[in-house]
Amino acid sequence: MKSEIETKLEQFAIKRSYPFCYSCYSRAAQSGVCAKCGTDDCMREYPGHGVEFGTQWIYKAILESELEPISEGDAFEDYMREVYPETTVVGFLNLDTVTTMRDQDPTAWDCAQSEWMDAQLSDEVFFTPDNGTTIYSMSDVEALLEKGGG
Ligand SMILES: [Zn+2]
Repeated sequence: MKSEIETKLEQFAIKRSYPFCYSCYSRAAQSGVCAKCGTDDCMREYPGHGVEFGTQWIYKAILESELEPISEGDAFEDYMREVYPETTVVGFLNLDTVTTMRDQDPTAWDCAQSEWMDAQLSDEVFFTPDNGTTIYSMSDVEALLEKGGG
């Protein structure tokens, strides 16, 4: 099922692109119907980026060119630093909690990071257009839609 933000991004992509009839190899009317052959099975032309079916590739390119993706590792570290005390006493050592956790058990750290990220994505704190390869802050995506999406 498509999320609300994906629907908005699709509309945004449609606004920034044109229907394109591949058989006639020309732009079709804004309605999406080709004036020459009458087909409504049009691809989308995104100027400067080519012609493809669908809209996801278009908003992926828009997000890529207009937003800075977040670093999953940095975002998780920031979160962990909020949750845990800055330092932890081990014996007579006063150690940086986050660094110590990560160094002591990198596998558990990675596991926690990926669970946390899944939760952020399903809570729509973050948004990924490509199954987690690129991650954006949802507020950045919303600001972009507000600014340019109309
Ligand atoms: Zn045509």
